[in-house]
Amino acid sequence: MTSESPSDLGESMHRLATRLFPFHRSISGEGARDTFAELARHIPLQVTEVPTGTAVFDWTVPREWRIRDAYIADQDGLRIVDYRQSNLHVVNHSLPIHARLDWEQLRPHLHTDEHSPHTIPYRTGYFRDIWGFCVTAQQYESLRGGGPWEVVIDAEFLDGSLTLAECELSGTSSESVVLHCHTCHPSLANDNLSGIVVATELAKRLQLREHYYTYRFVFVPATIGAISWLALRSAEELRQIRHGLVLTLLGDGAPFTFKQTRNEESTLNRLVPLVLAANNFPCRVERFEPIGYDETQYASPGLNLPVGRLSRSTHGRFPEYHTSADNLQFIQPANLAESLRACEVIIEGLENNIFPISNCPSGEPQLGRRGLYRAFGERDDRGELQPAIMWLLNLADGMHDLVAIAERSGISFEVIVQAAEMLISHQLITPARQRTPMRDGPGVWPQ
Ligand code: ZN
Repeated sequence: MTSESPSDLGESMHRLATRLFPFHRSISGEGARDTFAELARHIPLQVTEVPTGTAVFDWTVPREWRIRDAYIADQDGLRIVDYRQSNLHVVNHSLPIHARLDWEQLRPHLHTDEHSPHTIPYRTGYFRDIWGFCVTAQQYESLRGGGPWEVVIDAEFLDGSLTLAECELSGTSSESVVLHCHTCHPSLANDNLSGIVVATELAKRLQLREHYYTYRFVFVPATIGAISWLALRSAEELRQIRHGLVLTLLGDGAPFTFKQTRNEESTLNRLVPLVLAANNFPCRVERFEPIGYDETQYASPGLNLPVGRLSRSTHGRFPEYHTSADNLQFIQPANLAESLRACEVIIEGLENNIFPISNCPSGEPQLGRRGLYRAFGERDDRGELQPAIMWLLNLADGMHDLVAIAERSGISFEVIVQAAEMLISHQLITPARQRTPMRDGPGVWPQ
C-alpha cells in the first residue's frame, strides 16, 4: 500500500501505543475521550456521546465515571499504594471512598494475583457498587496487619455520557466490513492497545487506496459500548455489514488465532485460514462460542452478523493477561507490523473475492482464439494458471466464490484471483459480489 517498511510501521504503531498507554480508560470518562483525541490525529474519527440513561437494547447507559486520585496511605501520609504510579491500582469503576480503615476492614477490598504475585492485577467493578484496590504481593504484605490506613478513591459518578468513536472509509459499495476494537482497558498494552494501534494504522493505509467495501473501524468500550453502537445503527446499516473482525491481542509473539463467526458457512471462516496460510502466517482456528470479546454481541441471534476475531495469544491464556505485565515491553513492534500485514492480507482477500458468472457457459470457450493459452504458458512457471482458468470457467455458475474455487481445486487463492482477473478482462466471466443462484441445464442461463 505505502512504501513504509514493516519495521517503520511497527515502530510507529508502538509509539502510538506508548502515547495511549497512560490514559485511564474505562467504559466511560475522560480516558476514552483522550484516547479518541489522539486517534483523531491519525485518522478521520467521528466521536459520539451517548447520554447516561439511554436505553440500548436490554441495557441502559450507566452514569459516567471520573477519577482524579486514589491511594492507601499510612498515618504519616506515606502512600503505600498510589494511583499516580499505576491506574491499575484502582478497581476500574470503583465507588468513591475517603475513610480511615483498619486492616480487617481494608482486607476484603484488596486484590492480588496469586499466579503472578509481582504484578498488579486488573479488576473491574462494572455494574456493581463496589470499591477496591489491586496490589502486588509485596504491597499486600506491607499493608497486612497494619493500620489504620487512610483509604481514598477520589472518584464520582455523574450524568454524563458513554463515548464511542468510528472511522468510516467509504468504498464504491455501501456493503461494509466492520473492524472492531474495545477501548475500555486502562494501562494494558496487548489487551486493547495492540488492536487499537493496528486498526488505526490499517485505516490510515486503507484511506490511500480504492476499495469496494465501506470500512467501519469501531472503537468502543467492551460490551456496553458494542451494544450501544449496534443499538444506534439503523436496520439498513446493519444489513449492509457483510464481514467483520474484532482485533485485539495482536502485539505478542504467538501465532495467529482466528475465532470463527457464528455462521459456520461465512466467507471469513473459509477465507481467513486460506489467505493467512498462503502468506506463511501460521494460524490456529477456534470455533465460535458465545464467550469472549465483542464478536459475541454481533453474533447475538437477532443480529447474526458474521464477525470473527483475529488475535495472537487468546484472552486468559497468557501469564501477562490482565496484569501490569501486559505493558509496552510485552508488545513488540515486529509483532504489531506482522499483525497489520495479516489484516491487510485478509482485506485483500475480501476485496478480491467474487462470485464469477460465465458469459460462455455452454461448452468450453475457445481460449486459443483469445490468446489465453499462450498467456498462461508464459506467465505461470508453476503451471497452476491453466488449471485455475479451467476450474474458474467450470465453477463460474454464480454459486461459487473464489475461495470455494481455490478450496475445491487445491490451487492457491492468489492464482485463482490472477486467473479471474484475466477472464474478466477477456469478458469470459462477469464478477458478482453475492451468490447468484442459477438453475443447471441448457436454455435457462440468464443473459
Ligand atoms: Zn480484557
